[in-house]
Amino acid sequence: MLCGAMARKPRGRAATPEPDLFSGLEPPPAQNPDTAKEKNERTNGTAPAERRRRAPRDAGATGPSASAAPETMIEAPSDSGVPRQDATSRASSTHAPTSPAGKAPSSRRSRAQTPSPAPTAPFHLPPGARLVEVAPERGAPGTFTYLAEAALAPRLVPGARVLVPFGARAIAGYVVGTREPQSLAAAGFDPARLKSVLKRLDVPGDDREQSPLIAPALLDLARWIARQYACPLGSVLAAILPAGVKRGASAARARLVNAARPPEELREAAAGLAKKAPKQAALLHALLASGEATLAQELLAEAGANDAALRALVKRGLVSISEQAALSLGQVYEGATGAAGGGQTGMSAPPPEIRGQHGRPCCPRTFQVAPAPAEFALTPAQSGALDAILQALAAGAHRTFLLQGVTGSGKTEVYLRALAAALKEGRQGLVLVPEIALTPQTAARFEQRLGAHGVAVLHSHLTDGERAEAWRAVRAGKIGVVIGARSALFAPLERLGCIVVDEEHEGTYKQDNAPRYHAREVALERARAANAVLVLGSATPSLESAYDARAGRSTRLLLPERVRGAQLPPVEIVSMQEENRETQRYNYFSRALERALRETLERREQGILFLNRRGYATVITCRRCGRTERCDRCDITLTSHRQREVLTCHYCGMEKPIPQVCSACGAPGVKFWGLGTERVENQVKGIFPDARVARMDSDTMTRRSAYVETLSAFRAGKLDVLIGTQMIAKGLDFPNVTLVGIVLADTALHMPDFRSRERTFQLLEQVAGRAGRGEKGGRVLVQTYLPKDPAVLAAAEHDYEGFAEAELRERHAYGYPPFTRLARVLVRGKDLGQTQAAGQQAGEALRAETKGSALQVLGPSAAPISMLEGRHRFHLLVKASDGESLAALFAGPAGRALEKLKGAEATVDVDPQAML
Ligand code: ADP
Ligand code: ZN
Repeated sequence: MLCGAMARKPRGRAATPEPDLFSGLEPPPAQNPDTAKEKNERTNGTAPAERRRRAPRDAGATGPSASAAPETMIEAPSDSGVPRQDATSRASSTHAPTSPAGKAPSSRRSRAQTPSPAPTAPFHLPPGARLVEVAPERGAPGTFTYLAEAALAPRLVPGARVLVPFGARAIAGYVVGTREPQSLAAAGFDPARLKSVLKRLDVPGDDREQSPLIAPALLDLARWIARQYACPLGSVLAAILPAGVKRGASAARARLVNAARPPEELREAAAGLAKKAPKQAALLHALLASGEATLAQELLAEAGANDAALRALVKRGLVSISEQAALSLGQVYEGATGAAGGGQTGMSAPPPEIRGQHGRPCCPRTFQVAPAPAEFALTPAQSGALDAILQALAAGAHRTFLLQGVTGSGKTEVYLRALAAALKEGRQGLVLVPEIALTPQTAARFEQRLGAHGVAVLHSHLTDGERAEAWRAVRAGKIGVVIGARSALFAPLERLGCIVVDEEHEGTYKQDNAPRYHAREVALERARAANAVLVLGSATPSLESAYDARAGRSTRLLLPERVRGAQLPPVEIVSMQEENRETQRYNYFSRALERALRETLERREQGILFLNRRGYATVITCRRCGRTERCDRCDITLTSHRQREVLTCHYCGMEKPIPQVCSACGAPGVKFWGLGTERVENQVKGIFPDARVARMDSDTMTRRSAYVETLSAFRAGKLDVLIGTQMIAKGLDFPNVTLVGIVLADTALHMPDFRSRERTFQLLEQVAGRAGRGEKGGRVLVQTYLPKDPAVLAAAEHDYEGFAEAELRERHAYGYPPFTRLARVLVRGKDLGQTQAAGQQAGEALRAETKGSALQVLGPSAAPISMLEGRHRFHLLVKASDGESLAALFAGPAGRALEKLKGAEATVDVDPQAML
């Protein structure tokens, strides 16, 4: 139960000052030896009742109703009129044993079942009252038992959000089950200590007040996530419900709070204000945590502050407030259409519920519903794929398909028709995309074709209020298809028929803070539980998905060719070593790339230059002593940014002025090495002064509308060259682009990560796919210092099969996923010695539990980034043959030990995508 560490210091918004929660509480009861024994037996000996058929990746993943939760000691009650599936406390205790309300022991995990020296007197509840299990939203892992008094009891069904007393305060949580009075009595709890649920928290504007906020299917899904990814059920439930929903936010009007100073300064200011103006400090922290302009009303609620505190911050010049009507969903669509250049049909109308919530139409222009049927006939490959999916839909049972098709092979067309079929049968669709802001064209196409059924696009740039309105519309049953990134998975759709995960190989599907779930895996679980069809689409499937298809756990559908006979562009590899030797100098641009770009511009065609690194130079050294400029708080070299004239740390955001002299020896003149997008832009403008050049990376695309503007300009031919990071690698379809230059293919290859080759292959293939989408054809140039690397060579040949074959063989030989499941335990602390010792301690705890088992513990060792934001970092890797044995490990004593490390905190990341 690692996420305890996270609970102590949530990375999300509004950190509850955790220590309060536990102050003044009694020491934990002594552990009952019998209970402990039973627990061990359950952990180690019991096979889950229900297994997913995904061995070895998930050999033992338990379904939500599996009764083998290792710490469950209470039998499932079946009274109380709640559906049995949800009424059980067994799943709620998946992660932590329950304890009576407010009785939070000082050692958070050892609040195990209290001993019962002698059975106490029979336990009588007041008439009509019940006992419920509540998982707190944040602060404390595990679940706690509360009394549901008669007046409230009927409404305290599983999934309801409630306010409960906890220590000296009241906190929000979720009812996750009920509990039998006898079990409490048997555990020796003093009924007099039992506290009552204060009230049920409902959502303003929700017209389904009778049903719990978290539907039963989503509660089950949350249980599954909590167990698979070793995090508290309450924190998963908190993530399932959009923040704006909880506060009843609306999209009608928004007062936005913006940072007026760089993050580093805000952090400093917050530290300075902590004592004399804690509310102002809390507001700053909340703003920093949200990472973007945030609704004032939400920030205030988050920080528990009032308007005066906010005004004071404005006066200090730390934040500014902009008053604006938030963009409506409709406007977002409109922007998307503009970018796609389609515009001819317009978007379909968002359902009136979204429009009319506040009496003000949020969509200023008239929409026409134009479900224009596709004019073209499917290719034979598309028809074959669609037929297979339609058959599965008709059968109404869960199936997984891997739709593997090269870029431009018509995958999206297949999704669209599959979703249309599901809608026709009265079922709903869910489409996950890696980052919807980057694929406005895709969103627009879905809107255009399926809009008549109600499409909600959960854009990452929506305000909390807009998101909340979309959620309410989905919950009211008015939405047929939800499109969005990761978190769209939790849309409260009740008749799911088809889930699509587009670009399923993308790393962004893994959430990098708690709960650290992988959206593809969760989509599979959700589809399985809903008897829905899952379609995973990619030109370059993840090796996990490729392996599943080979092992027969999914059905692969191939679209081997681009539609309309378009060819994949030829790829030329340019060895930069050779280039440097022949030209006798160090080059960023080869002669070949320069020539190709010149020809492209002369033909009035367009080029895309890709480099997966932003900034100007990535390494700054002294010309005399060779000292490298590094971040003070991270083990990272600083990147220079010319435009803003700063050096910045890409991990913590620290910035400082570009030094005129070396900070070590004082010699004048520092040297700028390495290449970022800003430097590429600089070079291109130098070589082609007349070219119209734009750069797209997270430095230039800070505004909501910036993507749309730049992409529209590029599409309209107002730009000749587009330079960018992976932001431009995805989904863009510009027929006039005939040249794609990959300025340096090697950036990811040097990463100490077993997936670095896979990532490089995928990225190269993806970027190359941006060329030659139109009739003019196109070409791709790849500059590299590793021209013989298998990933580079395979991408040049567009040879996915060859690449997958070789890479799978390698992964098998070294015991890496998809042949094993991994968990990474990261131990972080301020003091080097203590952190190192804590790492050792973590290693011992994990080894003690895994001795003699098939699990393998590696480390601890210093993490590749050994220091981040002033914290030292060590990590351990646990390898297992299946997900269930990992889940059991972290739910058991080892997980508890990780919560109690001295002077350091541990976080567990199951299926880690980042190893830095
Ligand atoms: P992918 O999702 O695989 O990149 P898309 O579905 O976006 O491919 O298709 C690429 C382009 O080809 C789109 O403009 C789409 O409308 C068009 N298209 C798709 N299928 C066909 C077809 N069978 N005949 C003609 N055009 C098609
Ligand atoms: Zn830093």
